[in-house]
Amino acid sequence: MPKKKPRLAVWKFASCDGCQLSLLDCEDDLLAVADAIEIAYFPEARRGRIVGRYDLSLVEGSITTAHDSERIKDVRKRSRHLVTIGACATAGGIQALRNFADVKEYVSIVYAQPDYIHTLSTSTAIADHVPVDFELRGCPINKRQLVEVISAFLVGRRPATPPHSVCVECKLKGNVCVVVAHGMPCLGPVTHAGCNALCPSFNRGCYGCYGPMETPNTRSLSRKLAELGMDRRDLERIYRTFNANAEAFREESKRHGS
Ligand code: SF4
Ligand code: SF4
Repeated sequence: MPKKKPRLAVWKFASCDGCQLSLLDCEDDLLAVADAIEIAYFPEARRGRIVGRYDLSLVEGSITTAHDSERIKDVRKRSRHLVTIGACATAGGIQALRNFADVKEYVSIVYAQPDYIHTLSTSTAIADHVPVDFELRGCPINKRQLVEVISAFLVGRRPATPPHSVCVECKLKGNVCVVVAHGMPCLGPVTHAGCNALCPSFNRGCYGCYGPMETPNTRSLSRKLAELGMDRRDLERIYRTFNANAEAFREESKRHGS
């Protein structure tokens, strides 16, 4: 009898779908593992769904509604392994800017019929609601790393994704440092690796879309950024983008503002 293939499910919460698109964009790389898995639930890629339990669930998006805070518990119950993918799922995403503002005011400005909007006052990471087996960072995630994570869980090993900073990737590529050479602000020293130092490779500072690395020295970086001319408002805002609610960025941002 042929061996039963592990079941993969892909779930969407509050997000732009970019990380799911990264999965579709894997194309040939994904085909290499596609033979070994059964894509049991992935609405963006196929209409049919297999209900029941899943061996690996990939979760994109953050929790922004009471309904989703219940739905994720159900996903957790059905999943042997649960991996969150992208800045929304791992840190709350750009929509977590609401955590620093008055949501009711936002809703009244943005929507013609605010009464129809049922939202929580915060956007939070999946790990704030249920236990998570692995977090894959990025906005969007790197498809090479995604294939590595899927392959690792299929064979029962820890994914080999580096925990160091973008600076390490930048040095390995032989880039000239934009901070040292041009006095340009760059969050590379505190940002999680994974993009292969994309922005500094094009002579631009990193703005932290992969979120904080494992042990980021944000205080020291902020001192350097202040020397480069950033005032308190700039320092408050530089950490408040896609990963504004990731603890290290959130706390450093707060130190300079509200
Ligand atoms: S350019 Fe940015 S990422 Fe590259 S070494 Fe300098 S500080 Fe680090
Ligand atoms: S260099 Fe920074 S901002 Fe640019 S892709 Fe990499 S992590 Fe994102």
